[in-house]
Amino acid sequence: MEQLETIKKIAEDNGIAFFGTSFVGDVLPREFGHLPYAVTLGMRYPKTVVEGIKQGPTSLYFHQYRTINANLDRTAILIQSKLLKLGVEAVYVPASQSLPENAFRALFSHKTAAVKAGLGFIGKNNLFIHDDYGPAVRLSTILTEMELPVAMESEQKPNRCGTCKRCADACPAGALYNRVPKAPYNVSDVLDAEKCSFTMKEKYQHIGRGAVCGICMAVCPFVK
Ligand code: SF4
Ligand code: SF4
Repeated sequence: MEQLETIKKIAEDNGIAFFGTSFVGDVLPREFGHLPYAVTLGMRYPKTVVEGIKQGPTSLYFHQYRTINANLDRTAILIQSKLLKLGVEAVYVPASQSLPENAFRALFSHKTAAVKAGLGFIGKNNLFIHDDYGPAVRLSTILTEMELPVAMESEQKPNRCGTCKRCADACPAGALYNRVPKAPYNVSDVLDAEKCSFTMKEKYQHIGRGAVCGICMAVCPFVK
């Protein structure tokens, strides 16, 4: 599939660590129903940065968070532009975005697309955990009408948290319920997003704009 190879090459040339495709037509908001296929892009944090935030976020982590998001957005928009040029409708979903009507909800869940692509699972820490790279990753999604290869349900990865509860124990907000997310994924099954957000602002406002924490990522045994 020539168009797929073209967009994979854009991803590779722009530092994307992993790439996946999926069908998300069954979980899309109505306004995107005509774009039922998803391209997932992922980038990794260096372990050095993640090891440094076990007790709380650092300014290095905050800058990495912002810069990785910016590169994901930039690469996603390059792919969007290429697809539009080829006459294929496509819309990229920003790497980090909350809706004005609900600050704790995004336009579309990158994690859902990544799980459907068979790349990994969602942990009890409410983070996507890549099969090879663990939870220290960030994601972006491009929705498109272009038919893309789809992972079988049997190829999707089950949750592997087991009896671990390190993330819930370490969370300074007590915001994690120590629950395995069920499909269809709903953040409120796993996390009290208001508590998480309030604590980030209250405790870590001095780090960047107080928008990061990451302890539940750093303590996870799947960090690579
Ligand atoms: S980001 Fe921090 S406050 Fe939010 S759930 Fe994770 S550990 Fe808790
Ligand atoms: S810290 Fe443990 S319970 Fe939390 S996401 Fe990682 S493996 Fe799962």
